[in-house]
Amino acid sequence: MQLIAVSALLAACGAAGAQDAGKALGGLLRPINPNLLNTLPVPSAASAPAPAASELLKLLGEPDRIDEARELEIGRELAALLVGSKPLHQDVALQRYVNRLGRWISLQGSRPHLPWNFAVLDDAGFNAFAAPGGYVFVTKGLVDRADEAELAGILAHEITHVNRRHHLQALAAGARAGIATQVIASQVRGAAANALSAQLLALGRKVYARGLDQADEFEADREGVALAARAGFDPYGLPSVLQQVRTARADDPLFALTLSTHPPAQQRLEQLEGAMGSRLDAFSGKPSVPIAQRLR
Ligand SMILES: [Zn+2]
Repeated sequence: MQLIAVSALLAACGAAGAQDAGKALGGLLRPINPNLLNTLPVPSAASAPAPAASELLKLLGEPDRIDEARELEIGRELAALLVGSKPLHQDVALQRYVNRLGRWISLQGSRPHLPWNFAVLDDAGFNAFAAPGGYVFVTKGLVDRADEAELAGILAHEITHVNRRHHLQALAAGARAGIATQVIASQVRGAAANALSAQLLALGRKVYARGLDQADEFEADREGVALAARAGFDPYGLPSVLQQVRTARADDPLFALTLSTHPPAQQRLEQLEGAMGSRLDAFSGKPSVPIAQRLR
């Protein structure tokens, strides 16, 4: 039932305003703020009670002890880092569409209550990022090369990273490896709150440059495919994107970061094939919907 409803819903949303979209979803969606930048607080000393630097380091090293409030705080800092490196795209209709699409998919996942935010970064590269607590970003270059099912597959992959707290695990691995300790040493004179931000951002930069654990990537692929299907999209959207990545030239700068931070696309496709088999075939074969069609 849901599978049919969502296609009609998104078609309706394409022409409707954010409020109408909220109504179409039975009021499930919160009012959408297309200008995400205004919702991202600038990291500051006042944004959270500052634990002593050593305390935070200990906390980051043990992600199981990080409660949801702290996770959201960490996510806001890292999201600001991502938006700081690439500006948001100016197309408000596109931002609204991606935000609505992402929120719909996130509602089918294991943490629908998080304050999810989805946005398009003004960057020609082919990439997607998530930050703890429900922040998901895709680049304009990716959106331009995807149809709706492919974009849904990518968003579902990123949503799974958030739901499974993969970034917190990666931050923890970095903290245990001593990356933060070096930062503390260079911040001896800094206030504790600034040291907190500096540690987190140093760790975050490493995580976004190196990528997540390979097993976590495979998990996000597997669960992302199932999540996209549950939200009513063709489960082959994500494999279709991976085909595109697989055929990208190794020296293509637009794909460079995706290629360096993820397991080889061929390997991801093989893992997915093993996990999916033909179980999701019944949900596939839907006609491709160009994203431009949703923005009219
Ligand atoms: Zn990933």
